[in-house]
Amino acid sequence: MNVYDSARIAELLGGQGYQTVDDPVEADLVILNTCHIRDKAAEKVYSELGRLERIRRDRGRSGAKQFLIAVAGCVAQAEGVELVERAPFVDVVVGPQSYHRLPQMLADSFQSHAARVDTEFPAESKFDHLPDIHAPPGAAGAFLTVQEGCDRFCSFCVVPYTRGAEYSRPVAAVLAEARGYAKDGACEITLLGQNVNAYHGDGDDGTPWGLARLIEAVAAIDGIARVRYTTSHPADMDDALIRAHGEVAAMMPYLHLPVQAGSDAILAAMNRRHTADVYRRIVERLRCARADLALSSDFIVGFPGETDADFRATLRLVEEVGFAQAYSFKYSPRPGTPAAALPQVPEEVKRERLAQLQDLLDRQQRAFNVAFLGRTVPVLFDRPGNRPGQLLGRTPYMQVVHASADATLMGAIKAVEIDGVGPKSLAGRLSRQAAA
Ligand code: SAH
Ligand code: SF4
Repeated sequence: MNVYDSARIAELLGGQGYQTVDDPVEADLVILNTCHIRDKAAEKVYSELGRLERIRRDRGRSGAKQFLIAVAGCVAQAEGVELVERAPFVDVVVGPQSYHRLPQMLADSFQSHAARVDTEFPAESKFDHLPDIHAPPGAAGAFLTVQEGCDRFCSFCVVPYTRGAEYSRPVAAVLAEARGYAKDGACEITLLGQNVNAYHGDGDDGTPWGLARLIEAVAAIDGIARVRYTTSHPADMDDALIRAHGEVAAMMPYLHLPVQAGSDAILAAMNRRHTADVYRRIVERLRCARADLALSSDFIVGFPGETDADFRATLRLVEEVGFAQAYSFKYSPRPGTPAAALPQVPEEVKRERLAQLQDLLDRQQRAFNVAFLGRTVPVLFDRPGNRPGQLLGRTPYMQVVHASADATLMGAIKAVEIDGVGPKSLAGRLSRQAAA
């Protein structure tokens, strides 16, 4: 979502005469759009800020033009004025729900040296105050935020505090944005939300639409060939959404469905509001709806109170479900969240469990990828490759594929025969078959 927000900020400031540059040394303004989900992400902000302060100092010495530093996103939201206390050279601090106010804040900042801090959750929606957004020229796909914030309050998570209460954009706004991307040439849309399957935006008829209905409408837009959504909560996988996986051809057979842990005691302590068996059952129903569906997930190891037996329950769940891909993390205590106040699992235990879990997940991912050798799959080319004459693309399962292909195929979906499997990607050659 930060990628999406950054694109919207760039579009907003583009209207004020700003252009993006590749190197902060050339910039008049640098905005760090930050993540607070784990301690590591938050701390990275301060090391980046140190680097920017050095650029500013050099700029001052050369007498060159002003260099403004802004911090946006969830670290800005969580730390607010504390951030300015720790890094007094920061000019603007703006939370994820008020970045539509950046032009005014920046104008004020150019006038005076006092830092501007806006971490309000404004009554107005930022979406009503942002200019229309366009897919970058040649983009094969686009992210589209449909839902933001979260009311679930998992006991480890800062999102409800930093992104605020759950909010769904109206259907008409989402569809207008999706049509715009299709017109710009993007054929894949990824619907985004912190808890995207809790989507309940107002339809034109005044009734709330669920995510399944929204996906059907997005999939029906001319030029849209692929639809994805992320990230979902298992307890919000309703019947209509499960059914849509079998019925909407444009829905990709790949779902990121975080489970976090396999032990019911830990799931309860995390306030996830479902058991491991409920998760297994949802997966079963999804696979009934769409036999070729593959799953990815998120895991946290070393949540407070996690015993060896709890951890083994996570390994068991992974073995039973089988994941094509996964993200796994050591539990990171976040300020203000209930779990941070509980007695903590020692660091070396977390490290050992993470290594063991990642080893299993890596083996599953390799096995999943190796099974593609010799198969012909539709690949959406979305980036130039490392070598001339090469393009990179994605399969329906988000695997990256390298293939020799002419640059004119950027943005197209072509059938590719897989003839190589690397640790992070697949290799293939264009097939003579038509694109599937
Ligand atoms: N809304 C999604 C998750 C959003 S946060 C859901 O409900 O599943 C993305 C991932 O970051 C989470 O799935 C979780 O695995 C991880 N995460 C969040 N808070 C964390 C913390 N305090 N420590 C470690 N990992 C965390
Ligand atoms: Fe965080 Fe996801 Fe839980 Fe919401 S549902 S509190 S975003 S982990």
